[in-house]
Amino acid sequence: MNGLRRLLIAQIRAQGPMPLAEYMATCLMHPEHGYYATRDPFGAAGDFTTAPEISQMFGELVGLSLAQCWLDQGAPAPFILAEAGPGRGTMMADILRATKAVPGFHGAMQLHLIEASQTLRHIQQKTLGREDIIWHEGFDDLPNLPLYLVANEFFDALPIRQMVRDGGLWRERCVGVKDGDLSFGLTGPMAMAGLMQRLEDTQDGDIVEVCPQALALAERVGDRIEAKGGAALMIDYGDWQSLGDTFQALENHAVADPLAHPGQADLTAHVDFAALALATPSAYSRLTPQGVFLERLGIAQRAQALAAGLSGAALENHIAAHRRLTHGAEMGTLFKVMAFYPKGAAPPPGLEP
Ligand code: SAH
Repeated sequence: MNGLRRLLIAQIRAQGPMPLAEYMATCLMHPEHGYYATRDPFGAAGDFTTAPEISQMFGELVGLSLAQCWLDQGAPAPFILAEAGPGRGTMMADILRATKAVPGFHGAMQLHLIEASQTLRHIQQKTLGREDIIWHEGFDDLPNLPLYLVANEFFDALPIRQMVRDGGLWRERCVGVKDGDLSFGLTGPMAMAGLMQRLEDTQDGDIVEVCPQALALAERVGDRIEAKGGAALMIDYGDWQSLGDTFQALENHAVADPLAHPGQADLTAHVDFAALALATPSAYSRLTPQGVFLERLGIAQRAQALAAGLSGAALENHIAAHRRLTHGAEMGTLFKVMAFYPKGAAPPPGLEP
């Protein structure tokens, strides 16, 4: 039997059913058996492919949007350039290359990466090949400076709670043990002060997902940006308000049973951008489809310029990558972009207030 499954069953037998959030956190980040802790899951050979791994254009345009935002705010120096959950470090490499020509940007920048996985930290170090990277477990120890932060497919990896409405109360979805195997169950009904407003737009039996860690991060990051300046660009799949079960396991590019192979499948949930917007004390942009965001930033022109140097299969791949990032039937609409920025300032280019 899978080592993590055995550990989980033993723990549940000893302590009782565990909330979904604890199951998700353990599966993703257990130091020995966790999904991110033990592997590089990206790319064709892995379980999923992210936008920065599809084309260099993604990170380049994100980088230029952030750098223009930095210029618009008067080029504060020093400042923090941070990425949450950098994966292989591909997007940051593209951001750094694209912003080299922005006068003063690299000179004023301190590079901070928020990454829990040691395996991925090593890969990020190799990709970026720099001596000046400062890694963090979370946001708390980032220096108190203007903060320009990017996060692509980071919030979807943070553990969620699932609450099922029962009258005016809520039952929480848990992972327990049944017939010797992991199985979903529900707690008894509880009052949830934080879900009062969701009683208005839900019915009995509806599932509402809450991501306490995402809310805490949004609050802290937004507070820093409001106080010191900066911006946070968050790109993820999700929507304005979460309703229903979006908890999903992905293994070898296919949807899998989230309880079947703990630690061996990627577990995610859609991001509830409305909840992030509610949590930040800063201004936030309109939620914008990824395709629209990239088109506003000039992906068509950049794609043409790159195409000029390509032919044959490389050119075909490049054209397919452009389509994949922007087209409504691919990532263009499913993925959304939202930014935090100081009240009274302009949002990063590509986004509207
Ligand atoms: N941004 C990258 C990787 C996305 S996968 C890309 O687009 O390719 C999610 C990333 O977030 C991984 O690097 C993972 O190790 C990291 N991560 C997940 N949960 C985390 C947490 N709680 N704290 C810090 N990093 C986390």
